[in-house]
Amino acid sequence: MTAPMPQYPELPDNALIVLIGASGAGKTTLASTWPASQVLSLDGLRGVISDDPGCQDATGDAADVLKLILERRMARKLNTVIDATNLEQPVRVDLVMAAKRHGMPTIAVIVATPLSLCIARQDGRPDNRRVPEDTVRTQHKAMVHSVQSLRAEGFNETFFVGGLNRLEPYLRRLSEARSADLGLDGGDGLGDLLLVRRVFGPEILPLWQWKDGSDVAGGDRVAEIRLGQLYLTLALRTDVDGEGDYGFDVMVPCPFDPECGGYAWAPAWSIGCLHRALTGQLDNHEDIVCTVHGSFDDVDQEADDHAAQALEAARG
Ligand SMILES: [Zn+2]
Repeated sequence: MTAPMPQYPELPDNALIVLIGASGAGKTTLASTWPASQVLSLDGLRGVISDDPGCQDATGDAADVLKLILERRMARKLNTVIDATNLEQPVRVDLVMAAKRHGMPTIAVIVATPLSLCIARQDGRPDNRRVPEDTVRTQHKAMVHSVQSLRAEGFNETFFVGGLNRLEPYLRRLSEARSADLGLDGGDGLGDLLLVRRVFGPEILPLWQWKDGSDVAGGDRVAEIRLGQLYLTLALRTDVDGEGDYGFDVMVPCPFDPECGGYAWAPAWSIGCLHRALTGQLDNHEDIVCTVHGSFDDVDQEADDHAAQALEAARG
């Protein structure tokens, strides 16, 4: 028997939730436990405005956009999470006022990660996202200081992240998405597209079209990735290694005869293989198998056999 889950406070279904913490405290990870459409990230909006989430010059513009979106979301009474380091107190007050104008509850969540960890986490970041140590120190101090003042700023409630259960809603949402992918929710599910997504990534799915009825792959399932005039043809193989493993081949020109009437296939293990196939970089790949000519080994063997026969005949 497992221990009963401790009782955690329930957040309102719809509120303004402001995450408070220094750079490196883990606000973005915490924010990802809410659906992406509910999160307003200052870094993210800097990226939208300037193509560079680390562009400090874009902070003012990003904050303007953030306030505008928040205002419209609050008018719709939608749950909204603010992921922004170092939000100046007046900006924070503006956000709270916007929520209050629309009768929405306001909640501060303090991400009180130890300073040493916030500083250590800067190391793994790209240059333009790395915050100098003294700035992180200042932010951390501001976080500690704000614990006292958040109520006075108008927040209805403040929580420390350790007092909340965000893991359960996060896992629930992932689990629901997974069930839908698998068709366990009564829907169609992704079927063979699950394998497509695993091998080539989710971004390829909108271009992916099964070509059921096509016989170019010897009865195996055929698909096409097409954008305008350009396309690749793929085959779903159900026994790539003789042990029943599934995988894909991509159609390439026959390397043995440009006039070949067969179909030549090269293994496609990743999205990189598809790019190489499209740009001709797989055209002489050693693993190509043609339905007429076979593999490079077969062609070499045949050439050897001819040579041996010729030698034999010459000796004759
Ligand atoms: Zn061929």
